[in-house]
Amino acid sequence: MKVLVIVIAALATLGLAAFGVVTEQKASETGGALLVAHRTNAAQDADSAAAPAAAALGQVAAGQVVAGQAAAAPAAAPMQTLIAAPSIAPPPAPIHLAQAQAAPGRSLPLASAASGPQTGSGKPAGNMPACDKPGAMGLSRIVQIDTTGGPAFGFEHFKQYDFLRDHEVVLTFDDGPWPENTAAVIKALTDQCLKATFFEIGEHATWHPELSKMVAAAGMTIGSHTWSHKDLARNPYASDIEQAKQEIELGVSAVHHAVGGPIAPFFRFPDLQQPPVLLSYLASRNIATFSTDIDSFDFKMHRPEQVVESVMSKLKKRGKGIVLMHDFKPATGAAMPELLRQLKAAGFKVVHMVPNAPVTTLAKYDDMLRQQDKMDVTNTRPESSVVKTISGD
Ligand SMILES: [Zn+2]
Repeated sequence: MKVLVIVIAALATLGLAAFGVVTEQKASETGGALLVAHRTNAAQDADSAAAPAAAALGQVAAGQVVAGQAAAAPAAAPMQTLIAAPSIAPPPAPIHLAQAQAAPGRSLPLASAASGPQTGSGKPAGNMPACDKPGAMGLSRIVQIDTTGGPAFGFEHFKQYDFLRDHEVVLTFDDGPWPENTAAVIKALTDQCLKATFFEIGEHATWHPELSKMVAAAGMTIGSHTWSHKDLARNPYASDIEQAKQEIELGVSAVHHAVGGPIAPFFRFPDLQQPPVLLSYLASRNIATFSTDIDSFDFKMHRPEQVVESVMSKLKKRGKGIVLMHDFKPATGAAMPELLRQLKAAGFKVVHMVPNAPVTTLAKYDDMLRQQDKMDVTNTRPESSVVKTISGD
């Protein structure tokens, strides 16, 4: 009987929480227009109702694990973090990765993040990457995310970790890599000595591995966004976790392979549809989930001015946040220089996220990736050693 009462109380609490979140949840990222059928309002509502439960479950699971973590993420009791949300990386704790020493070219942020002491190669804590561009904006902070236990971020769905201070923004870009647009975003960021996080689609990365490598070489953090941008809250994925896992893991393996080096255990769900069972799965893989604080809705926009206006107006209202954009979209690439100019003029500061360790791919899905038709990773021998004329001229 006692147990029954507790269960009912818990369900009631979840229900209230769900109601609270649902009322503020917007139609979220419908992602690059490419593969995603637009959803009806009814379908969105149905999914929205599921999302808060996901959030609640994710928070508890993440909190339990994070609470056991070491100094980088100040241990936060699960219930407290639902409300108080302490900074993940309070300055001047050694969360600042010295990346200035990273060699140009193949320097991966993960290399420094994963190489042990958070201060990098002997640099004192607090060092920021050198910026050789006079008047450039530059990063204000680098925060290291301990992904153990799959913490989830982004106040649109997860209200556990409120690590940004007033006027701080984290820039994130989805659905790349994509010719021209991704390069435009990278150039605009690099011109201002800024860095951002890119959630790449696995299939896109296999089509343009050189672009994934370019993003990594520019010192950006790279996470993944499934293999082919499927809404995992819908069938067949909703009813078949193996298919859903495959969509997630093939994406991880593909982006990892395209980069040709470590990538972050950072993941964003297509359409921000986050089934609880998959949040638990990601937690078991020590992969952090990122929703968003500010959805630019740039995927609906065709003019750069619209993207700038959308981001700036929402940021001014909210004061800070993780901003969701799409390097897949031409308007976003074109908007970046002006957006960064306005961010600086309005006193916003850019924070860069890096993981504490790279993601681990699973052999099963690495193998599956190799079997994809387009992937020819096993054959690296030159033609002359494979084909020889043995008869005739
Ligand atoms: Zn997307």
